Amino acid sequence: MRIGIDLDGVLRDFVSGVVQAIAIHNPSLIHKVELPMLGYSFTQWLPFWTEKESDDYVFRSGDITEYIYTQAPPIATSIVDFNKIRKYLHDNGHELCLVSYQPTEEVMEYSKYWIDKHNLRFDDVYWSSGHDTKKDFDIDWMIDDNNQVLYSVEDSGKKAIRFVTAYNMHENYRHMKYEINRLKEIRKII
Ligand SMILES: [Mg+2]
Repeated sequence: MRIGIDLDGVLRDFVSGVVQAIAIHNPSLIHKVELPMLGYSFTQWLPFWTEKESDDYVFRSGDITEYIYTQAPPIATSIVDFNKIRKYLHDNGHELCLVSYQPTEEVMEYSKYWIDKHNLRFDDVYWSSGHDTKKDFDIDWMIDDNNQVLYSVEDSGKKAIRFVTAYNMHENYRHMKYEINRLKEIRKII
């Protein structure tokens, strides 16, 4: 089978990348950041900016955007587990494919750099045009932190694995059959 895996929130710690950028470029705001991030809107954890201001800061601020996307740390447990999981999947006849949505051409290039920098190897790489189109690629399973992605994958009849975070586990969110707290747990599922 072909296993899709997301980048931000599963392999790359995008939130820490943003926080680091604010600490360096906007130090007067760093104490106003609200962590953990508990929702999908920027205003929840970056309350000093409007949604549009945060959006521009993260995706369209030149050097700051480059910093966020190239210097964000990996999710610690994922970088530890990655090669073991890839080997486990290959040993069992499966393939591991990156399926990532990056909102601009620029951040997609930074993301490719980040993947190389951390020596992450995939059997295929798919760049999707949005959250809801990840399901359309040649994958049987999708590991993701984004509920919108997980629901659309599940609704399409494919299998979805929620990578559990502080922001995707609200009691009102859909119960998922498959959930993991770190990558190595997929050995119990696949
Ligand atoms: Mg994600």
